[in-house]
Amino acid sequence: DLTHGRILYLEDVHVAFDGFKAINGLSLDIAPGELRCIIGPNGAGKTTMMDIITGKTRPDRGEVFFGGTIDLLRHSEAEIASMGLCRKFQKPTVFEALSVFENLELALQGPRGVAAALWHRLSGAQRDRLAEVLELIQLQAEAQRPAGLLSHGQKQWLEIGMLLIQEPKLLLLDEPVAGMTDQETERTAELFLQLKGRHSLIVVEHDMGFIARLGGTVTVLCEGRVLAQGPLSQVQADERVIEVYLGR
Ligand code: ADP
Repeated sequence: DLTHGRILYLEDVHVAFDGFKAINGLSLDIAPGELRCIIGPNGAGKTTMMDIITGKTRPDRGEVFFGGTIDLLRHSEAEIASMGLCRKFQKPTVFEALSVFENLELALQGPRGVAAALWHRLSGAQRDRLAEVLELIQLQAEAQRPAGLLSHGQKQWLEIGMLLIQEPKLLLLDEPVAGMTDQETERTAELFLQLKGRHSLIVVEHDMGFIARLGGTVTVLCEGRVLAQGPLSQVQADERVIEVYLGR
């Protein structure tokens, strides 16, 4: 059973939009606890791939399995999200008028907690979890500040913290370090390396320095399928990869 032991398994997935094959035979295999970077030129199909994984786009054919046995093609986008498969879009979305702490509190409580998210209503375990995430995203000193006053990088970490606090099984991140300073990018790399092993992450990025810092396997998408895969140094030396990036 090929899906066994994989947090995510895509096999020969195809999607066409008005006859244009945006995803054309994509297969992908993510192990639990893995930190996988996905790169590829514009139009390679990276966004469409994430839309398929999260149930936003239905493939025309192929297989998509989550957690070994769950056939994602049989589930709605909302059901998939509730299974702990979370997506973070490129731009940060936090509640700007609420403090860092309150943002995390809301995320911890989930949808039903909006009115009841008060410190004393959190259980001891929830309080510990919140403190742990606050430390992980290094915003302890900012806990009482309104999120709207944070830097761009800090808002990104807060939103990542809001997802982490819900203990996701797989986190999909779209260009997390876009617009960050070099220092913020480095701290994001440190954060992701700490997550590795505990969470499974798929990171779509363009920043090669950041990807190099993360290490691990890099998947190069092109024309809706995997063009190359391996350590960054290996895929960067691959002639087919150089060709698609230089546009020949
Ligand atoms: P990437 O994120 O790697 O830049 P996308 O997944 O956004 O690539 O797009 C892959 C290709 O599919 C592009 O050529 C894009 O124009 C096309 N495409 C994506 N979504 C749609 C859609 N809803 N309708 C038509 N074409 C689409």
